Amino acid sequence: MKIQFLGTAAAEGFPALYCMCPTCQEALLKKGKNIRSRCQALIDDKLLIDFGPDTYYHMIQFSVPTEKIHHVIVTHDHSDHFYSNELCFRRKGFAAKVEDEPLYVYGTKPIYEKTLNVINEESMPEYLQAVLVTPFKTFKVMDYQITPLKANHDRRIDPVIYLINKDDKTLLYAHDTGYFLDETWQYLKSNVKKPLDLLSLDCTAGILKGWRDGHLSFDTFLEVIDRLKKENIVDSHTIIIANHFSHNGHATYDTMLEEASKYNVDVSYDGKVINF
Ligand SMILES: [Zn+2]
Ligand SMILES: [Zn+2]
Ligand SMILES: [Zn+2]
Repeated sequence: MKIQFLGTAAAEGFPALYCMCPTCQEALLKKGKNIRSRCQALIDDKLLIDFGPDTYYHMIQFSVPTEKIHHVIVTHDHSDHFYSNELCFRRKGFAAKVEDEPLYVYGTKPIYEKTLNVINEESMPEYLQAVLVTPFKTFKVMDYQITPLKANHDRRIDPVIYLINKDDKTLLYAHDTGYFLDETWQYLKSNVKKPLDLLSLDCTAGILKGWRDGHLSFDTFLEVIDRLKKENIVDSHTIIIANHFSHNGHATYDTMLEEASKYNVDVSYDGKVINF
């Protein structure tokens, strides 16, 4: 499998819109991997994770073949992960040659309902379809077995993280979440028979300390990893990536990499590709 991190920041981007904090200023000055757009990832060039406000920019920056992508799994209805306003452009008049197969948008109820609204308001069922997913119920998309797991995040919007399996490879894409909920631990313990090949885990609060609910900081990130190792869900072969950063975590890419590499953890940046 291949994962490409397209965007790796939290809601306001990194540097953040309007912000003049020292971390944003450092990112602006150093540029390169220190500039992060809003969170999105692409699996094997064909399965998109999240549809945020930087989808258009990612298409240009990383030559994402949006016209060939027919499946997007969405974690939750926060603006950095789901920007439904731009779904309407996937139709005749705005885009040529899009008739062959619709774009299927998978998500829990808030995502499902917003997508249905776009389909109905724009009368575009041949271009767009909504698929409702249920936490802990596995569904199939192309060759992938995908299981949404409940995230420890804004409970009002049924947020999920995704366990994705194809052939003998498994990855867990876990943003946005704090320390996992008991039900999610239970599911992972009972169902992950072979340690994960790749884990991308929330590190929104960077080098701050003690973040447990909603998001993780690097110290609690390591607590999650420790428990995953004890439960044999992660082992020494698992590629572990810290991802989804806020400037409020006081860690540019350079700062975060220095800290994370002490623990064999890699750090995402926009455009990073990993084959595993
Ligand atoms: Zn987010
Ligand atoms: Zn800032
Ligand atoms: Zn969120």
